[in-house]
Amino acid sequence: MRCQPSHFKKVYQWLKSQHPCLLCDSTSHRLLALCEDCEAELPWLREHCSQCALPLPKQQALCADCTHNPPLFSKVITPLQFAFPVDTLISRFKYQQNWPYGQLLSALLIQHLSYYFDEGGQRPDLILAVPLAKRRQRQRGYNQAQMVCDWLAKALQLPNPQQLVLRTRETVSQQGLSAKARRDNLHNAFQITQPEQVKDKHVVLVDDVLTTGTTCSIISGLLVKHGAARVEVYCLARTGKPQTVQM
Ligand SMILES: [Zn+2]
Ligand SMILES: [Zn+2]
Repeated sequence: MRCQPSHFKKVYQWLKSQHPCLLCDSTSHRLLALCEDCEAELPWLREHCSQCALPLPKQQALCADCTHNPPLFSKVITPLQFAFPVDTLISRFKYQQNWPYGQLLSALLIQHLSYYFDEGGQRPDLILAVPLAKRRQRQRGYNQAQMVCDWLAKALQLPNPQQLVLRTRETVSQQGLSAKARRDNLHNAFQITQPEQVKDKHVVLVDDVLTTGTTCSIISGLLVKHGAARVEVYCLARTGKPQTVQM
């Protein structure tokens, strides 16, 4: 049956709101491409460190690392743990260019941040993506952290200046390195191109996954050195045990 012109727009809008769930393929009847059952079963971040968001077995203010050797960012905000199926979704987004998975996880982060701001959480002055080295970006063709950052900036109306943080030299993969080796590997690897833009500002770094936090901590130190008033991190998911993660 053909739609009457007067009804076509409504039907079109209805169709636009029908996203199959990306996890089970059922029709979700929601704007989110995720059905309610699959959403309920996601590995939501529950008890966690109030600074680095490390999942903890019970609620306590800070994890051992943040108590003894705190990172240089003030807070990490994320809704999810890096566990199945979130780890698979992120891996397909990051390495197989499966954008809908990245968009879905970004939508969950946007929803989480909207609640956070509604409850009095401080909105940042600007958000910046953790940069990839030029060679890696050329090989991959995109920076997944920048994509998440762009989606967040658009949905939450946050300033998102480009090229403000650059990765100035190639670094080896952080995987498997000790804490000191990770810091040495990233020493002098970043540059703030226009320091006046971060002076006295509340800055947020956006990344896909926070593992050890070393990269974000080093960039945060640089931002603070250039006068940033506060640096926070937004990410799609937080790992539990960094040393066992294969990313
Ligand atoms: Zn589902
Ligand atoms: Zn911590």
